Amino acid sequence: MPKRRADLVPHPRYGREPRVTGLDPQVDFPTCTVFLHWYSPSEVRVPNTAIAADTSRQNRPTIAVTHCFDSRRRCVDCRRVFLFFAAEQKYWYEVLGFPLESDCLRCVPCRKRQRELDAQGQRYEELFPLEDRTPDQDIEFVECSLALVAAGVFGRRPLERVRAILKKAKPHLKLQTVWERLREIEEAHAPVGDGQGPDLT
Ligand SMILES: [Zn+2]
Repeated sequence: MPKRRADLVPHPRYGREPRVTGLDPQVDFPTCTVFLHWYSPSEVRVPNTAIAADTSRQNRPTIAVTHCFDSRRRCVDCRRVFLFFAAEQKYWYEVLGFPLESDCLRCVPCRKRQRELDAQGQRYEELFPLEDRTPDQDIEFVECSLALVAAGVFGRRPLERVRAILKKAKPHLKLQTVWERLREIEEAHAPVGDGQGPDLT
């Protein structure tokens, strides 16, 4: 975990500075008036950043959480460290109704990218079976395919289909851009031993 705040991925709403509230409740066995989220053990909690949770608004918890702390997480995608803010936890668990079992695994930029990728995956599935795609739909299908290959969701197989579609495509504002993107991705995902590398024999 980085010690410097500058190394934390900033959150668009909360920034990257922990929000000091001066509240620092500790788990108090055996009285048990304080329950903290099991995903945020003491080593990831930022001291003195607690806010009281509203246990009545949590989504049928086995054990309700009484306080939320700003807590460090490491993003599963980019591996950078970010803060899962106490205020954001309250929003997740008390406003959005997420169960306490759900944890925040990705930083905000990676969450955004993941949502876009999910939407592109869904659009790909919708457009794939269409027999008569419009020129716009062709371009959209190509963009989704390229994004999914670039993100590693697909191997390079869809690239051949993309190339075939682009060869037959009618003039389109985005045609040049998607051709360039295709070439970049083909280069980045070139199969090993495709004869394009230096001949060492
Ligand atoms: Zn990330």
